[in-house]
Amino acid sequence: MSLDFALERTSPAADDRIAQALASPGFGRVFTDHMVSAVWTPENGWHDGRVRPYGPLSLDPATHVFHYAQAIFEGFKAYRQPDGSVATFRPAANGARFVRSAQRMALPAFEVDDFVNAADALIRIDERWVPTAPDASLYLRPFMMATEVGLGVRPANEVTFLLIASPSASYFAGGAKPVTIWLSEDYSRAAPGGTGAAKCAGNYAASLVAQQEAIANGCDQVVFLDAVERRWVEELGGMNIFFVLDDGTLVTPELTGSILEGVTRDTILTLAKELGHEVEERRVDVDEWRKGVETGRITETFACGTAAIVASIGTLRWHGGEVVAGARTPVADEIRETLVGIQHGLLPDSHGWLHPVP
Ligand SMILES: *Cc1c(COP(=O)(O)O)cnc(C)c1O
Repeated sequence: MSLDFALERTSPAADDRIAQALASPGFGRVFTDHMVSAVWTPENGWHDGRVRPYGPLSLDPATHVFHYAQAIFEGFKAYRQPDGSVATFRPAANGARFVRSAQRMALPAFEVDDFVNAADALIRIDERWVPTAPDASLYLRPFMMATEVGLGVRPANEVTFLLIASPSASYFAGGAKPVTIWLSEDYSRAAPGGTGAAKCAGNYAASLVAQQEAIANGCDQVVFLDAVERRWVEELGGMNIFFVLDDGTLVTPELTGSILEGVTRDTILTLAKELGHEVEERRVDVDEWRKGVETGRITETFACGTAAIVASIGTLRWHGGEVVAGARTPVADEIRETLVGIQHGLLPDSHGWLHPVP
């Protein structure tokens, strides 16, 4: 049975406030007028679905999530289409991953249909917040957390789902400029049997100290190696990675259980084949990366994810060294332009990836 979302309207933001927010939204700084919420208990399943005014929550200090981090999230985007309508990109893929993440964190499954409906309901009421500017979108952030009160360590018997939305421009300040990446040699993001393939809050908490080290070394982001041999390239703190070889082949690390299955990664694997590239999912040794950039075997490296879409990597830096890629990024540019074109309805959507918001 699908979940209903009862509507409780707030007085909408004035046009000029929205115009101002959309003029330079940044990323994740401003939020729309409403949010969606629902509650789960073992007795009643998911219930009390609501679209309600955006605002602070009041939570008991002993709420589970504050102590044991039983929490997951998702991120996907709604794009303004040429005819003025709005479509989300592959929301069911994010919904399916939300179910898998929930399972790993001993949280209840939130049905994919309810997930897509929740986003549709929020977008419909806050439609004025969907930007029209090219490269801008409405970022949707669904999340789920343990809201039972008490300090006993076990899967919570009360869980809350929330969905908020934020107009967003391109993720990295400076737009599509190549980023500098720090190779984390001291910290791991995920281990075999761990939570690396789940989109859980704790993975991000665990990656922040490495991110801090990256910033201290003049880098934008950090790349992690596998936790066992500390040799195989896994991914960035929140993005997957692709290498382009001199014969046009695209290589991305294979999913090992400690790599997050990005929807963008999956989309690019499909698009690259259609654009005539060979694609390989396999392990990549960090020395293959370093030497490949030096010898010219690797012509481009880029990171990908919903927020930044495709971000070319210019420099890989580590304690005592760095390699710098060539300035030309034709393959990353081709893939970015194709993907962004589909998302904004400017290129044919032959896979049915766009979900028109009804
Ligand atoms: C969300 C995320 C990604 C990218 O996934 P998309 O579905 O493409 O946005 C990659 N790595 C990690 C660790 C993530 O959390």
